[in-house]
Amino acid sequence: AMSCLTAIDASDPLNAFVHKTPEIALEQARAADARIASGDAPAMCGIPLGIKDLFCTKGVPSQAASNILEGFKPEYESTVTTKLFDAGAVMLGKLNMDEFAMGSSNESSCYGNAVNPWRREGSDVALTPGGSSGGSAAAVAADLCLAATGTDTGGSIRQPAAFTGIVGIKPTYGRVSRWGVVAFASSLDQAGPMTKSVRDAAIMLGAMSGHDAKDSTSADMAVPDFEAALTGDIKGKVIGIPKEYRMEGMPAEIGALWDRGIEMMRDAGAVIRDISLPHTKYALPAYYVIAPAEASSNLARYDGVKYGHRAKLGPADGITELYEKTRAEGFGPEVQRRIMVGTYVLSAGFYDAYYNRARKVRALIKRDFEAVFADGVEAILTPATPSSAFGLGDMATASPVEMYLNDVFTVTVNLAGLPGVSVPVGLDAQGLPLGLQLIGRPWDEAGLLNHAYVLE
Ligand code: GLN
Repeated sequence: AMSCLTAIDASDPLNAFVHKTPEIALEQARAADARIASGDAPAMCGIPLGIKDLFCTKGVPSQAASNILEGFKPEYESTVTTKLFDAGAVMLGKLNMDEFAMGSSNESSCYGNAVNPWRREGSDVALTPGGSSGGSAAAVAADLCLAATGTDTGGSIRQPAAFTGIVGIKPTYGRVSRWGVVAFASSLDQAGPMTKSVRDAAIMLGAMSGHDAKDSTSADMAVPDFEAALTGDIKGKVIGIPKEYRMEGMPAEIGALWDRGIEMMRDAGAVIRDISLPHTKYALPAYYVIAPAEASSNLARYDGVKYGHRAKLGPADGITELYEKTRAEGFGPEVQRRIMVGTYVLSAGFYDAYYNRARKVRALIKRDFEAVFADGVEAILTPATPSSAFGLGDMATASPVEMYLNDVFTVTVNLAGLPGVSVPVGLDAQGLPLGLQLIGRPWDEAGLLNHAYVLE
C-alpha cells in the first residue's frame, strides 16, 4: 500500500486518482497485516485497490465525476466496496471517470480527463485511457494499484481495459449488487473488476459477487470459485464467430487480431463455428435510446435540494429556478444531452416510436444470443473495440455519434444482460494494446474466464 501511495503521488499527470485516501489505506493495510499474521487471510487481503468515483464510499467524496455532486460524502458504503473491504482489500482512493459514466474517453469528467500511460511509438501525443472507467484503466495499467473497480453500462469496463492492455469483465446482470453505485441506466449497469490478469479478475469477481437484499435485481445464485475454473482446458468447446461483427471499414489490424484470437482458441482445442446474430446492427441505436431514457429518470433526483451543488438564487427565484439553475450549472454537456434525448424518447408523443421500439429490438438481440447458446455455442469471440486508443481531444470536433460508435462491439452484451470480458491480446503497428472480447452464457463467468485465460 505504501509503495502504491508513493507511486500515485508521483503520477499526477495521469489524473487517474481524483481523491486519495491514504489514512484509510494505511488503516486497512494494518488490519490486513494483522489478519495475515493470525493466519486468516481472505482472498483480497492487503490488495491495494482504486475505486471508481461512481461507488459510494462512506465519508469519502463520491461525485461520479460530476459538479452536481460537489461535496457529496455518502453516509453509507456500497455493497461492492463493503464486500471488498470485508475480503481484506485496501482502498487507495477514488478514480476518474466520465461524468455519470457517460462517455468513452474520460473527457466528460468534471476533473478533466485521465491520461493513458501508453504512447504511440516515437510519439508524445497523449491518448485517452478510454471510458467511462478511464481512471481505473490508467491506474491499473500504470501500476498505481493492483486492481480497480469499474462499471459497465455499454462497455465502460471492457473498452478502457482494451485501450490500456488490461483485463476487464462485465458480469451477468444481477451477479454483482448495484446498491450504492450511482445509477446511470439501471437495467444495463453492472460493476466488475479491472485487473492485470485473468486470474486476478477471477479472484476479485468472487469477492464482489453475490446476492444482496438491498438490490432487488441482484440474483440469489451461488457464487462459484472462479479461480478454480481456470484450467485452460477448452477442448471441444464451441466458440462462435459472429459475422455481423466484421464491420465495414474495420481497420485491418483489428481483423488480424481477431483472426489471431481464433487461431489461439483453435490451437487450444476449441471448435470454431461461424454464427449469425442478425439484430446486431440495431444494438447501438437501441442502446442510445434506452440508456438515455433510464438516465433521464435516474438523474431527476439531482435537484439542488438533498445533496451536492445548489445554485445561488436571485430574490425573485423560486423552486423552479432552483431546479433549473442547479441542473444547468451542475451537469456537463454530455449529461445534459442524454437527459434531453431521454426525456424526448419517453415523452407521450414519441414513446412508441422510440422507447418501445428500442425495447422490442432489445428483446430480439437477446433472442439472437439465446439461439446460438441453445445451439451449443459456449462463448463468442469478437474484437473489444473498433480501434486502439485515440488521441485526447480527437473527438472534440466530431459529432457525438462518432464517440458512440466506440461502443459498437460492447453494447449488445449489456442489452442482453450477458457476461463479457476484454482480454489484451497484442499490440497494433504503433505499439498500442488491443483487446478481444469474449461473450459468455448467462451466469457462466467461470467458463468465460477460463476461455479468456487461453487468450492471455
Ligand atoms: N460509452 C457508453 C456510453 O457513453 C458506455 C458507458 C458505460 O458503459 N458506462 O453510454
